Amino acid sequence: MFAKESTPPSNFIRTIIEEDIKTNKYNGRVVTRFPPEPNGYLHIGHAKSICLNFGLAAEYGSHCNLRFDDTNPSKEEIEYIESIKSDVRWLGFDWEDRLYYASDYFEKLYECAVQLIKKGKAYVDDLSAEEIREYRGTLTQPGKDSPYRGRSVEENFDLFQRMRAGEFKDGSRVLRAKIDMVSANLNMRDPVMYRILQATHHRTGDKWCIYPMYDFAHCISDSIEKITHSICTLEFEDHRPLYDWFLNELNLYHPQQIEFARLNLSYTVMSKRKLLELVKEGHVSGWDDPRMPTISGFRRRGYTPESIRNFCERIGVAKRDSIVDVALLEHCIREDLNKRAPRAMAVLRPLKVVIDNYPENQVEELEAINNPEDPNMGSRKIPFSRVLYIEEEDFCEAPPKKFFRLAPGREVRLRYGYYIKCEKVVKDEKTGQVVELHCSYDPRTKGGWSPDGRKVKGTLHWVSADHSLDAQVRLYERLFVTANPLDEKQGLDFKSYLNPNALQTLTSCKVEPSLKNIALGSRYQFERLGYFYVDPIDSSEGKLVFNRTVTLRDSWAKIVRKSEN
Ligand code: ATP
Ligand code: MG
Repeated sequence: MFAKESTPPSNFIRTIIEEDIKTNKYNGRVVTRFPPEPNGYLHIGHAKSICLNFGLAAEYGSHCNLRFDDTNPSKEEIEYIESIKSDVRWLGFDWEDRLYYASDYFEKLYECAVQLIKKGKAYVDDLSAEEIREYRGTLTQPGKDSPYRGRSVEENFDLFQRMRAGEFKDGSRVLRAKIDMVSANLNMRDPVMYRILQATHHRTGDKWCIYPMYDFAHCISDSIEKITHSICTLEFEDHRPLYDWFLNELNLYHPQQIEFARLNLSYTVMSKRKLLELVKEGHVSGWDDPRMPTISGFRRRGYTPESIRNFCERIGVAKRDSIVDVALLEHCIREDLNKRAPRAMAVLRPLKVVIDNYPENQVEELEAINNPEDPNMGSRKIPFSRVLYIEEEDFCEAPPKKFFRLAPGREVRLRYGYYIKCEKVVKDEKTGQVVELHCSYDPRTKGGWSPDGRKVKGTLHWVSADHSLDAQVRLYERLFVTANPLDEKQGLDFKSYLNPNALQTLTSCKVEPSLKNIALGSRYQFERLGYFYVDPIDSSEGKLVFNRTVTLRDSWAKIVRKSEN
């Protein structure tokens, strides 16, 4: 179904790069870049682009630039820039001293615009935005020339200088490329290059009141940085002729643009605009809410950078859009944590168990293995005593057929401990709710097996009541209840598919005492419950808050097994 981890699958981008190296197209150089617009936090789709750009550069012993496409001062914030930098670093990539901003090139971009005006290839247009849209035509209708298209070079140059000097109101004029209003490619119908915007820019302050449009700035920025392979998502394929036109007319160095399909994930929305909506309207606690598909959200959920990089490698790159099953991402984090996360016992919904025949005040230290996958991780001691907690759902008064856990008169094994048998059920008189179990234990079953060969079907996790620590645990489910929340067939907004149970907070959990001084941000497997992450923001001295990263049930492995049979 997918290639083995050890051999990264080749792909069409690697093939192009290798061909270019062979033919010495760029003197053997390979320079890529990751060009985010700082108008939101990075999401898992960006991780794909980051892994691709930084990964290819590393593979070919060259480098990748980080460049902020900060041409839109009204939507960009410094908070986003800082978050993007820390996310790229966290993923394990390094731009070294190559941190660039499109705004570094504003002067150069202005000169390029003037050059095009002087060549008669750009003009100042007084049409309103709406008129420009009307004149542009559609896919089936040709566009019309603006009445201002015939302005002389002198007049255009004069007006453009005055645009820069701040003589005109926002939106009253634009600079457009003079290409072809009847081109089959709408991007070539005299696209806007500059607009007037009286806005303070986070880096250039009030120096400029005209700002370049993305398409004009992007290709020239790539050219200035001598990018060899400008890798972008498929929707920019139709923009490539425009980039070529600009660079040809300006006689500038040409990178090779290569398009690939963007990552879409089931049960997830990825557009920054939509994610911002979720944040602003309070559907989540912030960009780093563990339910969010942002890199900071995954980090806070407990994902490792290795698991995300591995996921990006496995999904590969393609030329056709598709939706990746989010179960594959979950599989990648499980696989990583299975190898690395120490095991521990925690009880999320405690039910008190008193072992009547166990001596009062006796405490035994039982030996527990830290990670069966890795003998080097050793073992630890866990206390066993007369009063324990087990998971509420591990007891059933009237057990259905395949229930192998504890029930009246039934015997089960306590992990690393003894066999216990349920002798009596204590209920709340008013509510009828089970509040306590009385059990007996068989002292000969220490270690979890019986010398008389007696078998039990269930093994339960538990903690010692007196020794356990209090903890808060947050359980997460997918943020949307449907695989494709953007499917508007039913005319519903994506937010109507939000999963109301995506977050469940449990406040009276108990964890084993070995977790007393654990580091913030550490990861554990709680036996039978999943992988958990010590929330570094909400935990503090004496307060443990765990986020469940992922459960133990691997639906992806199941799919793969089925398809192999
Ligand atoms: P969005 O549409 O989610 O708001 P964007 O494409 O506008 O994202 P940018 O900041 O412009 O976001 O993207 C930076 C880089 O990340 C671009 O090169 C873009 O192609 C890439 N990228 C964005 N989304 C994805 C995705 N889902 N899969 C792969 N690459 C992506
Ligand atoms: Mg964008």
